[in-house]
Amino acid sequence: MTTFQQCRQALTGSACLDKVLSCLDKVKSSGTNKWKACCPAHDDKNPSLAITETSDGTVLLKCWAGCTTQHIVSAIGLELRDLFPGAKQPRRGPSKQAIQHERTVYLIGKAMLDNGKLSGDDLQRFNLAKQRLGVK
Ligand SMILES: [Zn+2]
Repeated sequence: MTTFQQCRQALTGSACLDKVLSCLDKVKSSGTNKWKACCPAHDDKNPSLAITETSDGTVLLKCWAGCTTQHIVSAIGLELRDLFPGAKQPRRGPSKQAIQHERTVYLIGKAMLDNGKLSGDDLQRFNLAKQRLGVK
């Protein structure tokens, strides 16, 4: 029997797969780039969720009880886009991380501005973050 620990060691550095597997229960390897786990979207006693990693790093989820992928990812607090590696993501506006980054820039900038220390490039960057966040 392959344990979860062994699965993780066998990972080839796929962020998507790592994220998904770390959120699931009773993860077991079931072949090359294939895992089984308990489905988080329904009351699953025997692992009925099949996880497959494609060669481009996309994670495919299939619940044999019929849960949709959307249900499965939201049950573990992820989103559909978490199943796709970064480079292949459709560009539909900034990612959550990008927004978080802008927010950090904004907050630091604001603190510096309050201290009268914000100028030049920093001020420009601050204004850009403000614009991106839609802060007036
Ligand atoms: Zn299910």
